[in-house]
Amino acid sequence: MYFGYPIEATTGNWFHECMTEVIITINTLRKAGQVIPEWPEIIPEHYRASLYTRTGLKDRLKVYRESLEGLSNVDLDHISNAMIMQNEISRLLSGECNCESIDELPISVRGPIIDLFTFGFKLLTDLGIRDSQYQLIYERTPYHVCPFCGCEYFDAPKGPREALDHYLVESKYPFAAANLKNLVPMGNKCNSRYKLAQDILYDNEGHRRHSSYPYNIVNGVQISLLRSEPFEGTSSLFPLPRWQVDFEPASEEVSTWDTVFHIEERLKRDVLDSDFMSWLGEFSVWCRDSVARPISQERISEALLRYSDSMKENGIKDRAFLKAAVFLMLHNYYQQGNQRLIDLVNGVVIGRM
Ligand SMILES: [Zn+2]
Repeated sequence: MYFGYPIEATTGNWFHECMTEVIITINTLRKAGQVIPEWPEIIPEHYRASLYTRTGLKDRLKVYRESLEGLSNVDLDHISNAMIMQNEISRLLSGECNCESIDELPISVRGPIIDLFTFGFKLLTDLGIRDSQYQLIYERTPYHVCPFCGCEYFDAPKGPREALDHYLVESKYPFAAANLKNLVPMGNKCNSRYKLAQDILYDNEGHRRHSSYPYNIVNGVQISLLRSEPFEGTSSLFPLPRWQVDFEPASEEVSTWDTVFHIEERLKRDVLDSDFMSWLGEFSVWCRDSVARPISQERISEALLRYSDSMKENGIKDRAFLKAAVFLMLHNYYQQGNQRLIDLVNGVVIGRM
């Protein structure tokens, strides 16, 4: 990810905490052979006023209770433990611990658990929790852009809702379906075209993998294009470079992000190849006011570097971080005396002046 979300966006997690408390209570009382309170008494008192009218929740809790029929105390502990571990989101992503998926629990409870927690996720909207989380993220993050691709813009709160991704997919880890620590606003393309139902914890071959935790990212990923090769691209129409995208840091977490969201592929196809020529045009317009006359090779070289620096200052906004990487690469080749590249840049700059 290019930047993370504020951890404060996960603090309004009372509904998830209530749900897990109810499940633990049901499992514990059943193990002890004690009477399980009926609705709404089964809801902890401090949450009851907010939830007692939610009959959909009542019905699904009843189905869950009935699905425990015939299970042993070992089975009940198994369910409780799976629920606790599925919600160790940051530790699961970093590889510090593991959890069981729903497929490893007794068959009778699988459907009821998925139905209960999927319904719980939908209730986050009705309870205002989802919108509060999004509003806080929107207000506290420096860019109103999807941090997974750096390109999709986020609409303001109160507009049509952006996608809210289950980072640990709900079909396998349903106990985390309503946990704000597992829910991350995401651009619709990243969510619906790329991440889909991929398991962030395991790759397609079933190997365990590590990922960054979106609510605890200190330094976002940096992009370097310095190893790209000018004029070696595949377009017959435009003098495109063959792009070499290097991520910094080159960590396993970054590799997972690239794999899950197809970052490199999308950058090359949808941004770098598509926008390279228009970015050169923008640079030439900028040069009209910025390059002192008489125009010399030395001044154009300086201008490439200054343009890259000024783009870098704009960060993620308007893909400026990618423009910064492109123009730093061009500056390097220009300074090294790559004559074909010098001719291209000079033609663009001087031709417009
Ligand atoms: Zn995105």
